[in-house]
Amino acid sequence: MNEYLEAVYKDAAPRLAGRAVTLILEAPPGAFVKGQASQDQAGQLTIWLDPALGAEESYRVFLHECAHGRLMKPDQPTGKMLTDGKVRIHPGWLERLSPGLRAEQEKKAQEIASEWERVAGTGSITARLQKLLDLSGW
Ligand SMILES: [Zn+2]
Repeated sequence: MNEYLEAVYKDAAPRLAGRAVTLILEAPPGAFVKGQASQDQAGQLTIWLDPALGAEESYRVFLHECAHGRLMKPDQPTGKMLTDGKVRIHPGWLERLSPGLRAEQEKKAQEIASEWERVAGTGSITARLQKLLDLSGW
């Protein structure tokens, strides 16, 4: 991911998630995931995006994780803030969620992300993100 696109993502993330976001372009801590959203006990949101993803996939995963961030209630921490400024996911947190609740959260996040993709239309990823932010007035 080039520096310009990285800057665009970092600008868009808090506006899409609806609050401050620490965006980390590293492989997420969860196994077998391309992106991950978690928040600490203070409601600070962290989103990981795997930098190894191709451009289109990274765009879709980014929107999906921002949607998760928008849906998370600040008083429901899923991780703990460590001194390095990164959130560590509670061990087994995903596994402790009931399959039904997890499926519901995934469905809701993907509904939002799909609507954002539809509204953003086509064009370069930076153009799509700009259109999305402009249209939504965020
Ligand atoms: Zn998800």
